[in-house]
This record gives sequence, structure tokens and C-alpha cells, in this order.
Amino acid sequence: MNRIHNFNAGPSILPLEALNEVREEMMNFGGMSVLEISHRSKEFDAILEETKSLVAELMKVPAGYRILFLTGGASTQFAMVPMNLMDKAADYSITGYWSKKAVAEAKLVGEVRTAFTSESEKFSRCPKADEIKLSDGASYLHITTNNTIYGTEYHEFPNSGNTPLVADMSSDIMSRELDVSKFGVIYAGAQKNIGPAGVTLVLIREDLAARSYRPLPTMLKYTTHVENNSLFNTPPVFAIYVTRSVLRWIKRSGGIAAIEKANRKKAALIYDAIDRSNLYKGTAAKDSRSLMNITFTLPSDELTEKFIAESKSKGMVGLKGHRALGGVRASTYNALPIESAMALAEFMAEFEKKA
Ligand SMILES: *Cc1c(COP(=O)(O)O)cnc(C)c1O
Repeated sequence: MNRIHNFNAGPSILPLEALNEVREEMMNFGGMSVLEISHRSKEFDAILEETKSLVAELMKVPAGYRILFLTGGASTQFAMVPMNLMDKAADYSITGYWSKKAVAEAKLVGEVRTAFTSESEKFSRCPKADEIKLSDGASYLHITTNNTIYGTEYHEFPNSGNTPLVADMSSDIMSRELDVSKFGVIYAGAQKNIGPAGVTLVLIREDLAARSYRPLPTMLKYTTHVENNSLFNTPPVFAIYVTRSVLRWIKRSGGIAAIEKANRKKAALIYDAIDRSNLYKGTAAKDSRSLMNITFTLPSDELTEKFIAESKSKGMVGLKGHRALGGVRASTYNALPIESAMALAEFMAEFEKKA
């Protein structure tokens, strides 16, 4: 099969081994496909439990946390977090487009206080730990660990003390090792790093899941999903199933430590190509550079368009930057092979020679 170099920002590349496993196993469910089984069957129960224990094992989730598989994307978590966890106010660190979306939802529930913002710097960086301003009486501090559009990532996490830290990790979940115990809630749409669209992973500390400040619709309460083990209603069976195959692949690859090492190598190839060049300009501050979304510009829109068109003809897709920033964005998620990063770095050098 001819696989292209897939730099899509999301949904994005999945490991070929995981896709093959899904294809091979498609009909292996007692005369049925996985798409046709009941979510109350013992077959699905096995899938759900294995997926959960893979999350727990790979991320080294400590005792006292619940692992949930929900629907509605990270965008629904923007609302569920404040609805469930905010008493009167919460602190938000604003580092890009998705942080602002989270803030907009939180404002519908209560008072949002700005703990940090890099908006006046065109979202070119994330804060250092000591730049975060915590406020009195905030129910939690919300951060976006990787800014998919602006190509920035936290390289140190705020020390929020007794204020629970809530993190949107949609675009860097399981891309690097971290200490889950520093976080009260971690949520991520699966479709960038760990699976297909349709399922949202939520890790939540039990004491936070039990918070209750207001009556809420059943589906929007964390307790509903905690008490029913993500089976209150029909969960996204197929998306969870494919996620299991991706997590199995991460485990076979050596776990998150090995994935992180590979991610660092891939990102270094492309950042080196930027730093060596007189043509490309990275948009992120160096100490905030993302391992997952690498953003850079060329001197004119014309050259950018030429770059995108030529890269396509060399079998590279998904490199057009988000309209908010323009330029080029190479998403180098877990499943992107090193060969794709090498191909891009080579193409960048060749293109510059001709330009
Ligand atoms: C893609 C993305 C989202 C939106 O996720 P949905 O699952 O589409 O709601 C939120 N936050 C970040 C950081 C993202 O990259």
C-alpha cells in the first residue's frame, strides 16, 4: 500500500499497524463485526477494560483517578469542566485559539480570571511556571498544554498548589512523559494522538468528579459517567476499539518514553531545517516550541502557496497552516514515521535552494 506523508493537524495519521489490526479483526466477533456488537456484550466489556488499563499503564495513572471515554469532543469538556467544577470563579491561562474557546464556555457558568495570556505576543509562547497568577477562591486553573494552531507547548507546568490543575491535552496526549498526579483533570479528543474522531479521553480525580454546585443535565455530569463506567448510554464503540489498537501499538513501541524520544527526533529534524535556513521563520518562541505542531512562515503568500503545492506533488499532505496564523504547519503526532519528518526536512532544503 502507498502511504503518503500525512501531516494533517486532526484527525490525523494513525499507526499503520493499528489500522491493519482493525482490518484483520473486523469480523472476529462471533459472526459479527465490531461495528455490530452490543455495548453491553462481554466482547465490548473486554475492549473497554483493556483500553482503560492501557491508559492507566501507559500514563502511570495513580490511584484515585477515573478514566472515562466520553463523546462531544474536547469542545464539550470546555463546558463540562466549569459546569461541574466551578463554584464562582476559575483561573484560565490563555495561550491560543482553543484556550479562548474554553474561556467562552466557562464565562457562561461563572467568572473567568486571566492567569496568563500571550495574546499580545500573537500567542507565540506559553508561560513559565512562575508567570501564572493564581487568584483567591478560584475553583481550578485551566491550561492548554499544546497549542495546535500556534505551534507552542508548555515545557514546564504551573505549580498550582491547592488549586486543581485542569488541562486540555487534545494535541499532545501521550506524546511525552508527565506526572499525572500534578493534574486534577486531563482531557483530550482522541483524534490527534491516540485514536480516531468520536471519543474523548477524560482522566479525573475522584474528589473533583464528585463536586456538585448546580443541577445539570444527566449526560453533562461527571458522576453519571463515573458511576456507570462510561456506559450510561451507548459509548462510541468503534472509536474506543480503534483507540485500543493505537494504545497497544504505543505499548509495543516501548511506551510513552520511547514515543517521546521518537517525537523529539522528528521535531528536531524540522526545527533544525528552520534554524539553518534564511527562508523559513519559526513562529513559536524557541523555549515554547511544540513537539507536535511545527509552524513556520515563508516571506510571501506566493512562496507559501508554491511550497504547499510542491510538497503535495512529493507526497506530503496537510502542511497548510491554520488560517489564524497562515504559513506552514507540520503536525508530527505520535504515529508520524521518522521517514516523513526526514522527507519534509529534505524538501525544505531543496525548495530553499531553488527559491
Ligand atoms: C482539536 C482541539 C480541540 C477541539 O477538539 P474537538 O474534539 O474537535 O472538540 C480542543 N483543544 C485542542 C488543544 C485541540 O487541538
